[in-house]
Amino acid sequence: MIEIVFATNNENKLTEIRNILGTTFSLLCLGDLKIYDDIPENEPTLEGNAMQKARYIYKMVNIPVFADDTGLEIESLNGLPGVNSARFAGEDKNSDSNIDKVLKMMGTSVNRGARFRTVIALILDGSEFTFEGTVKGRIITERRGREGFGYDPVFVPDGGDLTFAEMPLNEKNMISHRAKAFEKLREFLLHYNHKDNKGAI
Ligand code: IMP
Repeated sequence: MIEIVFATNNENKLTEIRNILGTTFSLLCLGDLKIYDDIPENEPTLEGNAMQKARYIYKMVNIPVFADDTGLEIESLNGLPGVNSARFAGEDKNSDSNIDKVLKMMGTSVNRGARFRTVIALILDGSEFTFEGTVKGRIITERRGREGFGYDPVFVPDGGDLTFAEMPLNEKNMISHRAKAFEKLREFLLHYNHKDNKGAI
């Protein structure tokens, strides 16, 4: 069975990816490898950050590694908060303050379009690959719902009227940006051919 490291210690993400990858792979997290470093994440793009994290861990363990990075990209704010989504309102990564800041900056703007975007960077046999998952939707003017995390209470994905925070978690996880990116990773890994270093993205 292929051993692969997910460069995270976030239990929710681990559960989500374990459900998607199934039992085909032996998935390790940083805690399993006793890695407790504060991994640098200071690139200006989601792609850069995800790859920076994957490279950092790959150098330490030299087995297949992937890392992810996600941002909320709001049209009327030219893609903000983007790569700064976690720390948009400050270093304490407070979701409530982040939402307040977004709502304040958007004001009464009629263009409410936004998307979540997840990038996964994978290093396998020394080669680097990236996978992207997005979900489009809109930012509403007031919070609704108690599920989920981050910007979920103000994000309504296209095709319905419920915010991510009003959906049961398993429903959100079926259509989320992260699920789509993880699904692409799964497809790639299933068809990966170690000999010629080719997969199907
Ligand atoms: P990360 O790269 O997964 O740590 O995500 C960075 C930041 O994006 C988080 O701290 C959240 O503010 C936001 N974010 C990521 N995924 C979601 C989501 O599924 N719902 C709401 N906010 C999210």
